[in-house]
Amino acid sequence: MRRKLAAGNWKMNGTPAELAELTALTQTHDTPTVNVLICPPSTLIAQAANTVADHKVAIGGQDCHANTKGAHTGDISADMLAAAGATYVITGHSERRTDHGETDAQIAAKSQAAYDAKLTAVICIGETLGEREDGTTLTVLDTQLAGSIPDTATAANTVIAYEPVWAIGTGKVPTLDQIAEVHAHIRTRLTARFSDGDQFSVLYGGSVKGSNAADIFAVPDVDGALVGGASLKAADFSPIITALENA
Ligand code: PEP
Repeated sequence: MRRKLAAGNWKMNGTPAELAELTALTQTHDTPTVNVLICPPSTLIAQAANTVADHKVAIGGQDCHANTKGAHTGDISADMLAAAGATYVITGHSERRTDHGETDAQIAAKSQAAYDAKLTAVICIGETLGEREDGTTLTVLDTQLAGSIPDTATAANTVIAYEPVWAIGTGKVPTLDQIAEVHAHIRTRLTARFSDGDQFSVLYGGSVKGSNAADIFAVPDVDGALVGGASLKAADFSPIITALENA
C-alpha cells in the first residue's frame, strides 16, 4: 500500500499567530485516514510539532543542508530539523533550484542527509514552461530523477513530488492526461531503478485546490499532493485532505 499524503508547504509565510491554522486543521482532521504534513518555516517547526503532538499531523522542513553541522551561516541541518520535531523535509523545491541554484547533485546530497537524520525526503522535480512547450518534459524529469534521488532511496524514506514549475502559484494546472502521462513515466523509472519502486508515493503539486483535488487524485499513480498557497488556511487545506481521504 502506497502512502497517501496531503502535504502543505507554507514557504516563507507564518509567524506564531498562524499556528492557529494548524490547531484548526487538527481539530477538523483529528484522525485523518491519510497522512497529513505541514512544512512551516524553520522558525515555527518546534512550536508546530508541539501543536500537533497529540494528532496525526506530521511536521516537516522546507530544505536542509547536506552537512550535519558547521560553518554554513543561515543554513539548517536535517539533524536540527529532526531535533525540533520534524519527520519530513522537502528537498529540491523549484524555488530552491531557481532562487539558490541548487543542482540535482546537491539535492541528492540533501536527501541523503535527510535519510541519515531519519527524515523522509519529499524530493521535488518538474519542468519549466519552456521545457513543456519544447516537448522535453520527460527528458528533463529523467535527468532530475536520476540525479536528485540517492541510490539509498526507498519507499519508506522518500516521497517524489512532481511539480511543473509553470503550475506553482499560477493557478494553471496541467490537463489530467498530462498529469497521468508524467506520473506513469515516473512510476516506470522508479520501478526500473528501485526494487520497491512501485511503493514510492508520487505527489502532484501545482495550484491544487479544494475545487480540483478530487479530479487530480483520481488520476492513476497520483498518491497525494504538495500544496503551497492552499495549505496556509485550514479552511482551504481541509477539503484537499478530505478529497484524498475519499480518493
Ligand atoms: C508548491 O509550492 O509546492 C506549490 C505547489 O504551490 P501552489 O500550491 O501554491 O501552486
